[in-house]
Amino acid sequence: MAVALEEKIEAIYQQVKARNPGEDEFHQAVKEVLESLGPVLVKYPEFADQKIIERICEPERQIMFRVPWQDDKGEVHINRGFRVEFNSAIGPYKGGLRFHPSVYLGIIKFLGFEQTFKNALTGMPIGGGKGGSDFDPKGKSNNEIMRFCQSFMTELYRHLGEHTDCPAGDIGVGGREIGYLFGQYKRITNRYESGVLTGKGIGWGGSLVRTEATGYGATYFVREMLKARKDSLGGKTCLVSGSGNVAIYTIEKMHELGAKVVACSDSNGVIFHKKGIDLELLKRLKEVERRRISDYAGYHKDAKYIEGGNIWEIPCQVAMPSATQNELNGKDAKMLVKNGCIAVGEGANMPTTPEGVRVFLDAKIAYGPGKAANAGGVATSALEMQQNAGRDSWTFDYTEQKLDKIMTGIHEATYETAAEFGAAGNYVIGANVAGFIKVAQAMVPMGLI
Ligand code: GLU
Repeated sequence: MAVALEEKIEAIYQQVKARNPGEDEFHQAVKEVLESLGPVLVKYPEFADQKIIERICEPERQIMFRVPWQDDKGEVHINRGFRVEFNSAIGPYKGGLRFHPSVYLGIIKFLGFEQTFKNALTGMPIGGGKGGSDFDPKGKSNNEIMRFCQSFMTELYRHLGEHTDCPAGDIGVGGREIGYLFGQYKRITNRYESGVLTGKGIGWGGSLVRTEATGYGATYFVREMLKARKDSLGGKTCLVSGSGNVAIYTIEKMHELGAKVVACSDSNGVIFHKKGIDLELLKRLKEVERRRISDYAGYHKDAKYIEGGNIWEIPCQVAMPSATQNELNGKDAKMLVKNGCIAVGEGANMPTTPEGVRVFLDAKIAYGPGKAANAGGVATSALEMQQNAGRDSWTFDYTEQKLDKIMTGIHEATYETAAEFGAAGNYVIGANVAGFIKVAQAMVPMGLI
């Protein structure tokens, strides 16, 4: 790449850093995408003339608001709510809400930035956005969750709309929370506007497969990466970090496709079960009883709970980081490669640090970055919106086939784009470049937006 071009992109990155101080995760996400874009500017000089990179790095709108709520004892709490509407060039803002104490503007911006390219890769008409709160749902009663969601939506609703901005779930936001949020939206606006939120219940506008979609999709993506290497998931030993919605349905699909998942985790520790994770038990503990995975070992004598353990130390052939950002560092990546890992599919958003990504790329293993590998969730949200728009509801099989086709398509597009831009087998470049071009090509004809 020409030195001048490299300097130009570096200058854009430095400007993003200076304009957004203290937002480390956002800087990290921007840097990773910008590093892929040199050859794109050579091929499409109009993107540079039109300052598309600079514009894409600046969210269209950022909303921050107070969320006051009362706990069961009547005590008042104040949290902060966020919605970052990043890019609407190809459709209404679309992306989840995260409720977690670590949430601050930098996390929501990194997620919204990534979402823009991920959504573009799905081929569906959805722009990028993300939101959430520093509220901690852990240990809260149903009524407390409901009151929080109602207060959150009482401010957020004015910014939403099925043609404007359509949130969904993310960490800490699942079917229960979407129910309370939708109920409050409907009540305030007096509109049954199904498409405004996705991840709804099946009886009131939700889509079959949406719950399973991120995990199933990530597994399909790894299946495709292995297929491209004339290999398959059959008989592979697999690690799935996390134990939330993404992890559970990754395990389910991995088992269906003949792999064996021997470990999962939460923020306290790791469950190692050599025989393979008992999915029914995990689902009951996590989805029904809302308990921690430490309880799993109480039901299986041959399973081991490792308090404070590092899941990536367990030998495997396939690793699926499905917990949270930066959960897998350079050291972990080296250990995985040394232990024989040949494929990594990111179910979480940006779970691998830049050092870890380097290790995987240098080792030339099949590495599927989140914005490609975990796009199945938001893609199925878009399928939910399609059903809502047509006042229709599809069968499980039909919807799953569509998801499979979308994931296979994302694999093909990222694989081919990587090869076209001189980086065969590098899905990081494939995903960043293909996602960016799609958004940029929509922005140019719309003028200075
Ligand atoms: N939070 C999910 C993601 O990271 C899903 C977003 C959605 O369905 O809108 O893509």
